[in-house]
Amino acid sequence: MRIFGSPERYIQGPGVLAEIGTVAKDYGGPVCIVVDAGVVSIVEPVMAKSLADAGIAFELHSFAGEITYPAIDALTASARPAGPRAVIAVGGGKGLDVGKGVAVRLGIPVITVPTIASNDAPTSASFAVYDDDHVMIAVDRMVRNPSVVLVDTALIAKAPAGFLRAGIGDALTKKFEADGCWAGTGITPFRTRPLRLGKAIADEGYRILRAHAAAALKAVERKEVTEDLEATVEACILMSGLGFENGGLSFAHSMTRGLVKARDAKNAPHGEQVGYAVVVQLAVERRSDAEVLDLMGFNREVGLPVNLAGLGMQRPTRAEIDDIARWTMTAPHIPNLALTITAEDVSAAILRVEALSGSPVGGTA
Ligand SMILES: [Zn+2]
Repeated sequence: MRIFGSPERYIQGPGVLAEIGTVAKDYGGPVCIVVDAGVVSIVEPVMAKSLADAGIAFELHSFAGEITYPAIDALTASARPAGPRAVIAVGGGKGLDVGKGVAVRLGIPVITVPTIASNDAPTSASFAVYDDDHVMIAVDRMVRNPSVVLVDTALIAKAPAGFLRAGIGDALTKKFEADGCWAGTGITPFRTRPLRLGKAIADEGYRILRAHAAAALKAVERKEVTEDLEATVEACILMSGLGFENGGLSFAHSMTRGLVKARDAKNAPHGEQVGYAVVVQLAVERRSDAEVLDLMGFNREVGLPVNLAGLGMQRPTRAEIDDIARWTMTAPHIPNLALTITAEDVSAAILRVEALSGSPVGGTA
Protein backbone atom coordinates (compact mmCIF):
# COMPACT_ATOMS: atom_id res chain seq x y z
CA MET A 1 0.00 0.00 0.00
CA ARG A 2 1.19 3.53 -0.81
CA ILE A 3 -0.53 6.79 0.12
CA PHE A 4 -0.60 10.28 -1.38
CA GLY A 5 -1.94 13.07 0.84
CA SER A 6 -2.50 16.78 0.24
CA PRO A 7 -4.74 19.73 1.06
CA GLU A 8 -8.10 19.72 -0.75
CA ARG A 9 -7.51 23.18 -2.18
CA TYR A 10 -4.49 25.46 -2.61
CA ILE A 11 -5.06 29.11 -3.47
CA GLN A 12 -2.21 31.54 -4.23
CA GLY A 13 -1.99 35.06 -5.56
CA PRO A 14 -1.71 38.72 -4.62
CA GLY A 15 -4.70 39.88 -2.56
CA VAL A 16 -6.32 36.45 -2.12
CA LEU A 17 -6.80 37.09 1.60
CA ALA A 18 -9.91 39.01 0.53
CA GLU A 19 -11.37 35.66 -0.67
CA ILE A 20 -11.35 34.18 2.84
CA GLY A 21 -15.10 34.73 3.26
CA THR A 22 -15.91 32.76 0.10
CA VAL A 23 -13.59 29.98 1.25
CA ALA A 24 -15.02 29.89 4.78
CA LYS A 25 -18.62 29.84 3.53
CA ASP A 26 -18.14 26.23 2.38
CA TYR A 27 -18.00 25.17 6.03
CA GLY A 28 -21.50 26.46 6.71
CA GLY A 29 -21.11 28.18 10.04
CA PRO A 30 -19.00 30.30 12.35
CA VAL A 31 -15.22 30.07 12.14
CA CYS A 32 -12.49 30.45 14.71
CA ILE A 33 -9.50 32.55 13.60
CA VAL A 34 -6.23 31.83 15.41
CA VAL A 35 -3.66 34.45 14.47
CA ASP A 36 -0.11 35.38 15.46
CA ALA A 37 -0.34 38.48 17.66
CA GLY A 38 2.22 40.28 15.46
CA VAL A 39 0.07 40.20 12.32
CA VAL A 40 -3.44 40.80 13.74
CA SER A 41 -3.46 44.45 12.67
CA ILE A 42 -2.34 43.51 9.13
CA VAL A 43 -4.88 40.78 8.44
CA GLU A 44 -7.89 41.51 10.64
CA PRO A 45 -9.48 44.36 8.63
CA VAL A 46 -9.38 42.40 5.34
CA MET A 47 -10.58 39.16 6.93
CA ALA A 48 -13.36 40.81 8.94
CA LYS A 49 -14.77 42.53 5.85
CA SER A 50 -14.56 39.41 3.68
CA LEU A 51 -16.22 37.19 6.31
CA ALA A 52 -18.92 39.79 7.00
CA ASP A 53 -19.65 40.08 3.25
CA ALA A 54 -20.05 36.28 3.14
CA GLY A 55 -22.29 36.30 6.22
CA ILE A 56 -19.88 34.18 8.28
CA ALA A 57 -19.57 34.87 12.01
CA PHE A 58 -16.10 34.60 13.51
CA GLU A 59 -14.17 34.85 16.73
CA LEU A 60 -10.57 35.99 16.53
CA HIS A 61 -8.03 34.61 19.01
CA SER A 62 -4.67 36.34 19.03
CA PHE A 63 -1.78 34.02 19.95
CA ALA A 64 1.64 34.79 21.41
CA GLY A 65 4.05 32.62 23.35
CA GLU A 66 5.12 29.00 23.03
CA ILE A 67 3.04 26.27 21.37
CA THR A 68 2.66 24.04 24.43
CA TYR A 69 -0.04 21.46 25.14
CA PRO A 70 -1.51 23.71 27.89
CA ALA A 71 -1.59 26.65 25.44
CA ILE A 72 -3.41 24.55 22.82
CA ASP A 73 -5.87 23.32 25.47
CA ALA A 74 -6.55 26.87 26.73
CA LEU A 75 -7.15 28.20 23.22
CA THR A 76 -9.41 25.23 22.44
CA ALA A 77 -11.46 25.90 25.58
CA SER A 78 -12.02 29.54 24.64
CA ALA A 79 -12.85 28.67 20.99
CA ARG A 80 -15.28 25.77 21.67
CA PRO A 81 -18.39 27.67 22.98
CA ALA A 82 -18.92 29.51 19.66
CA GLY A 83 -19.26 26.14 17.89
CA PRO A 84 -16.83 26.86 15.03
CA ARG A 85 -17.06 24.72 11.88
CA ALA A 86 -13.45 25.39 10.88
CA VAL A 87 -10.29 26.98 12.24
CA ILE A 88 -8.52 29.61 10.15
CA ALA A 89 -4.89 29.57 11.25
CA VAL A 90 -3.00 32.72 10.27
CA GLY A 91 0.61 33.81 10.64
CA GLY A 92 4.16 32.52 10.54
CA GLY A 93 5.11 29.26 12.22
CA LYS A 94 3.29 29.58 15.53
CA GLY A 95 -0.17 30.77 14.50
CA LEU A 96 -0.36 27.96 11.94
CA ASP A 97 0.81 25.21 14.28
CA VAL A 98 -1.32 26.25 17.24
CA GLY A 99 -4.32 26.57 14.91
CA LYS A 100 -3.73 22.99 13.74
CA GLY A 101 -3.59 21.87 17.36
CA VAL A 102 -6.92 23.58 18.14
CA ALA A 103 -8.53 22.08 15.01
CA VAL A 104 -7.41 18.60 16.09
CA ARG A 105 -8.89 19.11 19.57
CA LEU A 106 -12.18 20.39 18.14
CA GLY A 107 -12.31 17.74 15.39
CA ILE A 108 -12.85 20.32 12.64
CA PRO A 109 -10.91 21.25 9.46
CA VAL A 110 -8.21 23.91 9.38
CA ILE A 111 -7.62 26.55 6.71
CA THR A 112 -4.02 27.80 6.81
CA VAL A 113 -3.13 31.36 5.83
CA PRO A 114 0.66 31.84 5.94
CA THR A 115 1.81 35.46 6.13
CA ILE A 116 5.46 34.47 5.50
CA ALA A 117 6.96 31.67 3.38
CA SER A 118 9.65 30.45 5.79
CA ASN A 119 8.75 26.74 5.72
CA ASP A 120 6.35 24.09 4.44
CA ALA A 121 4.07 24.03 7.51
CA PRO A 122 1.00 25.57 5.79
CA THR A 123 0.63 22.51 3.52
CA SER A 124 1.69 19.84 5.98
CA ALA A 125 -0.39 17.79 8.43
CA SER A 126 2.42 18.06 11.00
CA PHE A 127 2.71 20.56 13.83
CA ALA A 128 5.46 21.01 16.37
CA VAL A 129 4.78 21.25 20.12
CA TYR A 130 7.30 22.78 22.55
CA ASP A 131 7.85 23.06 26.29
CA ASP A 132 8.04 26.41 28.08
CA ASP A 133 11.78 26.65 27.33
CA HIS A 134 11.24 26.37 23.54
CA VAL A 135 12.51 22.78 23.43
CA MET A 136 10.54 20.81 20.84
CA ILE A 137 8.89 17.86 22.58
CA ALA A 138 6.70 16.42 19.83
CA VAL A 139 5.74 16.63 16.16
CA ASP A 140 2.06 15.72 16.10
CA ARG A 141 0.10 14.86 12.97
CA MET A 142 -3.42 15.82 12.02
CA VAL A 143 -5.49 12.96 10.53
CA ARG A 144 -5.83 15.03 7.33
CA ASN A 145 -3.81 17.84 5.79
CA PRO A 146 -5.10 21.40 6.10
CA SER A 147 -8.33 21.56 4.15
CA VAL A 148 -7.43 24.79 2.34
CA VAL A 149 -4.11 26.64 2.06
CA LEU A 150 -4.56 30.29 1.14
CA VAL A 151 -1.36 32.18 0.29
CA ASP A 152 -1.57 35.91 -0.32
CA THR A 153 1.66 36.70 -2.18
CA ALA A 154 1.19 40.43 -1.54
CA LEU A 155 1.65 39.67 2.19
CA ILE A 156 4.67 37.44 1.51
CA ALA A 157 6.26 40.20 -0.62
CA LYS A 158 5.99 42.66 2.28
CA ALA A 159 7.65 40.39 4.86
CA PRO A 160 11.43 40.57 5.46
CA ALA A 161 13.43 38.64 2.81
CA GLY A 162 15.06 36.47 5.49
CA PHE A 163 11.81 34.54 5.91
CA LEU A 164 11.64 33.66 2.20
CA ARG A 165 15.35 32.76 2.26
CA ALA A 166 14.65 30.26 5.06
CA GLY A 167 11.70 28.88 3.08
CA ILE A 168 13.99 28.40 0.07
CA GLY A 169 16.38 26.43 2.32
CA ASP A 170 13.58 24.24 3.63
CA ALA A 171 12.33 23.59 0.08
CA LEU A 172 15.79 23.06 -1.43
CA THR A 173 16.32 19.81 0.48
CA LYS A 174 13.18 18.03 -0.66
CA LYS A 175 14.45 16.72 -4.01
CA PHE A 176 17.55 15.22 -2.41
CA GLU A 177 15.59 13.82 0.52
CA ALA A 178 12.91 12.29 -1.72
CA ASP A 179 15.69 10.78 -3.86
CA GLY A 180 17.29 9.34 -0.72
CA CYS A 181 14.02 7.96 0.58
CA TRP A 182 13.24 6.42 -2.81
CA ALA A 183 16.68 4.84 -3.15
CA GLY A 184 16.75 3.54 0.40
CA THR A 185 14.07 1.70 2.32
CA GLY A 186 12.42 4.85 3.64
CA ILE A 187 8.80 5.58 4.36
CA THR A 188 6.95 8.88 4.18
CA PRO A 189 5.07 10.57 7.05
CA PHE A 190 2.01 8.57 5.82
CA ARG A 191 4.02 5.51 6.92
CA THR A 192 4.18 3.89 3.49
CA ARG A 193 6.79 3.73 0.76
CA PRO A 194 6.49 6.78 -1.52
CA LEU A 195 4.42 6.94 -4.66
CA ARG A 196 6.23 8.29 -7.73
CA LEU A 197 4.41 11.61 -7.64
CA GLY A 198 6.09 12.75 -4.41
CA LYS A 199 9.49 12.56 -6.05
CA ALA A 200 8.24 14.26 -9.21
CA ILE A 201 6.94 17.19 -7.15
CA ALA A 202 10.19 17.46 -5.20
CA ASP A 203 12.20 17.43 -8.45
CA GLU A 204 10.10 20.22 -9.95
CA GLY A 205 10.33 22.29 -6.77
CA TYR A 206 14.12 22.12 -6.97
CA ARG A 207 14.11 23.10 -10.66
CA ILE A 208 11.93 26.13 -9.85
CA LEU A 209 14.21 27.27 -7.03
CA ARG A 210 17.32 27.06 -9.19
CA ALA A 211 15.59 29.14 -11.88
CA HIS A 212 13.63 31.69 -9.83
CA ALA A 213 14.66 31.90 -6.15
CA ALA A 214 17.41 34.51 -6.49
CA ALA A 215 15.14 36.84 -8.48
CA ALA A 216 12.29 36.21 -6.02
CA LEU A 217 14.45 37.42 -3.12
CA LYS A 218 15.27 40.59 -5.06
CA ALA A 219 11.54 41.10 -5.67
CA VAL A 220 10.82 40.80 -1.93
CA GLU A 221 13.53 43.35 -1.21
CA ARG A 222 11.56 45.71 -3.48
CA LYS A 223 8.29 44.44 -1.87
CA GLU A 224 7.04 43.52 -5.34
CA VAL A 225 5.00 40.51 -6.45
CA THR A 226 6.60 39.08 -9.61
CA GLU A 227 6.30 35.77 -11.49
CA ASP A 228 9.65 34.74 -9.96
CA LEU A 229 8.13 35.29 -6.52
CA GLU A 230 4.93 33.43 -7.42
CA ALA A 231 6.99 30.45 -8.66
CA THR A 232 9.25 30.46 -5.61
CA VAL A 233 6.37 30.73 -3.12
CA GLU A 234 4.66 27.77 -4.82
CA ALA A 235 7.91 25.78 -4.50
CA CYS A 236 8.43 26.81 -0.85
CA ILE A 237 4.91 26.26 0.45
CA LEU A 238 3.07 23.82 -1.81
CA MET A 239 5.76 21.70 -3.46
CA SER A 240 8.00 21.62 -0.41
CA GLY A 241 5.14 20.35 1.77
CA LEU A 242 3.83 17.83 -0.77
CA GLY A 243 7.40 16.82 -1.60
CA PHE A 244 8.34 15.74 1.90
CA GLU A 245 5.01 14.29 2.96
CA ASN A 246 4.77 12.19 -0.20
CA GLY A 247 8.43 11.77 -1.07
CA GLY A 248 9.87 11.30 2.41
CA LEU A 249 12.67 12.90 4.38
CA SER A 250 16.30 11.84 4.53
CA PHE A 251 19.66 13.10 5.74
CA ALA A 252 19.17 16.90 5.55
CA HIS A 253 16.31 16.97 8.03
CA SER A 254 18.02 14.30 10.17
CA MET A 255 20.88 16.71 10.68
CA THR A 256 18.61 19.16 12.53
CA ARG A 257 18.85 16.70 15.45
CA GLY A 258 22.46 17.81 15.84
CA LEU A 259 22.18 21.41 14.64
CA VAL A 260 19.46 22.34 17.16
CA LYS A 261 21.95 21.46 19.90
CA ALA A 262 25.09 22.92 18.31
CA ARG A 263 26.78 26.01 19.71
CA ASP A 264 25.32 29.17 18.10
CA ALA A 265 24.11 27.21 15.04
CA LYS A 266 21.12 26.18 17.16
CA ASN A 267 19.77 29.74 16.86
CA ALA A 268 19.68 29.70 13.05
CA PRO A 269 16.22 29.34 11.41
CA HIS A 270 15.17 25.80 10.49
CA GLY A 271 15.35 26.61 6.78
CA GLU A 272 18.97 27.78 7.06
CA GLN A 273 19.89 24.67 9.05
CA VAL A 274 18.48 22.26 6.48
CA GLY A 275 19.67 24.43 3.56
CA TYR A 276 23.21 23.86 4.89
CA ALA A 277 22.54 20.24 5.84
CA VAL A 278 21.56 19.31 2.28
CA VAL A 279 25.07 20.31 1.16
CA VAL A 280 26.42 17.87 3.77
CA GLN A 281 23.96 15.27 2.44
CA LEU A 282 25.61 15.45 -0.99
CA ALA A 283 29.00 15.00 0.69
CA VAL A 284 27.81 12.04 2.79
CA GLU A 285 26.43 10.48 -0.40
CA ARG A 286 30.01 10.63 -1.75
CA ARG A 287 29.06 12.81 -4.68
CA SER A 288 31.78 14.58 -6.64
CA ASP A 289 33.31 17.85 -5.48
CA ALA A 290 31.76 19.44 -8.57
CA GLU A 291 28.24 18.50 -7.42
CA VAL A 292 28.83 19.72 -3.86
CA LEU A 293 30.34 22.97 -5.13
CA ASP A 294 27.43 23.48 -7.54
CA LEU A 295 24.91 23.37 -4.69
CA MET A 296 27.15 25.58 -2.55
CA GLY A 297 27.16 28.06 -5.43
CA PHE A 298 23.38 28.20 -5.35
CA ASN A 299 23.36 28.65 -1.58
CA ARG A 300 25.82 31.54 -1.89
CA GLU A 301 23.68 33.11 -4.62
CA VAL A 302 20.60 33.18 -2.38
CA GLY A 303 22.46 33.85 0.88
CA LEU A 304 22.02 30.43 2.49
CA PRO A 305 24.88 29.00 4.60
CA VAL A 306 27.52 26.73 3.08
CA ASN A 307 29.32 25.84 6.33
CA LEU A 308 28.90 25.89 10.11
CA ALA A 309 30.23 29.45 10.39
CA GLY A 310 27.41 30.49 8.06
CA LEU A 311 24.99 29.15 10.70
CA GLY A 312 26.78 31.22 13.34
CA MET A 313 29.14 28.49 14.66
CA GLN A 314 32.58 30.07 14.21
CA ARG A 315 35.62 27.75 14.18
CA PRO A 316 33.84 24.50 15.03
CA THR A 317 36.05 21.97 16.79
CA ARG A 318 36.36 18.33 15.79
CA ALA A 319 34.57 17.37 19.03
CA GLU A 320 31.66 19.67 18.19
CA ILE A 321 31.42 18.22 14.70
CA ASP A 322 31.41 14.69 16.13
CA ASP A 323 28.58 15.68 18.49
CA ILE A 324 26.49 16.97 15.57
CA ALA A 325 27.19 13.72 13.71
CA ARG A 326 26.20 11.58 16.69
CA TRP A 327 22.87 13.37 17.18
CA THR A 328 22.18 13.27 13.43
CA MET A 329 22.42 9.47 13.54
CA THR A 330 19.54 9.32 16.09
CA ALA A 331 16.99 10.53 13.48
CA PRO A 332 14.57 7.97 12.05
CA HIS A 333 15.19 9.16 8.46
CA ILE A 334 18.86 8.10 8.42
CA PRO A 335 18.17 4.81 6.54
CA ASN A 336 16.53 6.88 3.77
CA LEU A 337 19.70 6.98 1.68
CA ALA A 338 21.12 4.89 -1.13
CA LEU A 339 24.02 3.90 1.16
CA THR A 340 24.37 2.93 4.82
CA ILE A 341 26.26 5.53 6.84
CA THR A 342 27.91 5.83 10.26
CA ALA A 343 28.55 8.79 12.56
CA GLU A 344 32.17 8.76 11.30
CA ASP A 345 30.89 9.18 7.73
CA VAL A 346 28.81 12.17 8.86
CA SER A 347 31.79 13.81 10.60
CA ALA A 348 33.90 13.24 7.49
CA ALA A 349 31.20 14.78 5.28
CA ILE A 350 30.91 17.86 7.53
CA LEU A 351 34.69 18.28 7.42
CA ARG A 352 34.70 17.84 3.63
CA VAL A 353 32.08 20.60 3.29
CA GLU A 354 34.05 22.87 5.65
CA ALA A 355 37.15 22.32 3.51
CA LEU A 356 35.35 22.83 0.19
CA SER A 357 33.82 26.04 1.54
CA GLY A 358 37.22 27.30 2.61
CA SER A 359 36.26 27.42 6.30
CA PRO A 360 38.87 26.85 9.02
CA VAL A 361 38.07 24.08 11.53
CA GLY A 362 39.30 24.79 15.08
CA GLY A 363 41.40 22.59 17.35
CA THR A 364 40.75 18.89 17.85
CA ALA A 365 39.88 19.28 21.55
ZN1 LIG B 1 11.68 21.39 7.17
